[in-house]
Amino acid sequence: MADLKVGHYSEAAERGQPGMAVPQGETFYLETFGCQMNDHDSEKVAGVLLARGYRQVDGPEAAKVILYNTCSIREKAAQKVFSRLGELRPATGDQRPVASEEERSGELRAAATRAQAGVPVPQKSAQPGMVVPREANHPSQRKIVNAGGGKIIGVLGCVAQQEGEGIFERAPWVSLVCGSASYRKLPQLIAELEAGNRRVTGLDTDTDETFETEITRRDNPFRAYLTIIEGCDKACSYCVVPFTRGPERSRASASILEEVRQLAEEGYSEVQLLGQTVNSYADPSARKMRFSELLAAVAEVRGIRRVRFTTSHPRDFGKDIVEAIETHPTICDHVHLPVQSGSTAVLRAMARTYSREEYLEKIALMKAARRPISITTDMIVGFPGETEKDFEETLNLLDEVQYDSVFAFKYSPRPNTPSLRMPDAIPEEEKGRRLAILMDRQREIQRVRNERTVGETFEVLVDGKSRRENQWSGHTSSNRVVNFTSPEQELLGDYVQVKVTMAMPNSLVGEMVGRT
Ligand code: SAM
Ligand code: SF4
Repeated sequence: MADLKVGHYSEAAERGQPGMAVPQGETFYLETFGCQMNDHDSEKVAGVLLARGYRQVDGPEAAKVILYNTCSIREKAAQKVFSRLGELRPATGDQRPVASEEERSGELRAAATRAQAGVPVPQKSAQPGMVVPREANHPSQRKIVNAGGGKIIGVLGCVAQQEGEGIFERAPWVSLVCGSASYRKLPQLIAELEAGNRRVTGLDTDTDETFETEITRRDNPFRAYLTIIEGCDKACSYCVVPFTRGPERSRASASILEEVRQLAEEGYSEVQLLGQTVNSYADPSARKMRFSELLAAVAEVRGIRRVRFTTSHPRDFGKDIVEAIETHPTICDHVHLPVQSGSTAVLRAMARTYSREEYLEKIALMKAARRPISITTDMIVGFPGETEKDFEETLNLLDEVQYDSVFAFKYSPRPNTPSLRMPDAIPEEEKGRRLAILMDRQREIQRVRNERTVGETFEVLVDGKSRRENQWSGHTSSNRVVNFTSPEQELLGDYVQVKVTMAMPNSLVGEMVGRT
């Protein structure tokens, strides 16, 4: 895919010197939509800007550079960025809404209607990408900010990759469009804007590089995220990730371990390894570490007390990962293993590469582990062609596996994905009905499972303090949220022992009984 650049390079821009050409005190505002990988990409983008002499501000009004790191995994997430861009419109007579190409052409709805009527939809060549949308609705965002006055507005991430230069047409006040597979070029693109270029883009996906930075500005003081593999080579028929994030690229094991050691020295005791399919990790260095070996090596770094990893793909999940968890108490007893559907017929249509039975074999490996492993998953309801019987199979998979938590979504047709041309689209109302039934069933499972923990004591990493006196919160190794009481003055970042006194479907309540 071509990398389109508008304008010219200056020699200094090409060198991308930190701090170059940034007038003192220039500011940036960065808002992130989507998954943990987007959150972490934003930490690295912020690091790049800070290294160039920018200062971060918490609202777009005060910012010289406004950046949106976007998500397009479902239609609603993608729409959000266009409403943000509408709020930044310079004062002109044009009050047309800012719509994506996808919305303007009505492509997806039309495709779904054609599919419903059994009319074949022409296939597109590209594929797709991921993310769990998170509501980002900072109050400062609600104000209309005039993009005039020399502000630089940039769209990053999955919507940037999906819509490309079309964003300039609909929102001519945008000057930077860059997909995540081109983030290596961000310093250079920013330098071009600083040098006076009006518009720059980074839209390559055919790269084998990962996005590593000298400085990462970490937002979470207790849990440090590290991307170990970027992109995705799977081709799930509903998903935009392979298209928006490009092919799989793994980071060398030595570089990962070096960063973990640095994090431990900085005082982080919990790290979370990230990847769309984190367990498909393939060490590009001569060491050729397997994912389970990397997990073990990270767990052995002095000072690290908790190692998490997400998201695992069932196809690449094997006994060696369970054994690594068993032998290393620092690897958390939690695995997020998205299933998407309990019906083999639907899994086949989704191109998930495993059957219900094969998925259940992976679950059996975890259930046989020497210490209990908490299992969570993602599910999609209302995939084209999902019958009432298929849906029943998804419901009884919930009963069979007994997940500790489920992220469930209504199927959302996405541009460029093969499922767009599948017949028997499910009406929105029916998708909503199935989602509500699934969530009710799962809530009851969680209520019963959590109730069994009453009276047990867990180690909790304290990461929150309530405004109410003596009230704290934190996470167990199994990633359960625990709210607890303690008269201590300062606990943030500490590991404490909490005895559970009450259970809710989504959290536990307890009291501190000691430190660890
Ligand atoms: N790579 C992970 C895997 O294979 O399971 C998942 C990453 S994806 C970004 C996060 C979740 O979003 C998926 O597990 C899926 O449940 C959901 N998702 C992806 N595409 C979707 C779509 N078109 N409609 C609804 N949900 C979708
Ligand atoms: Fe999307 Fe499938 Fe890749 Fe997950 S494995 S990111 S669902 S294509």
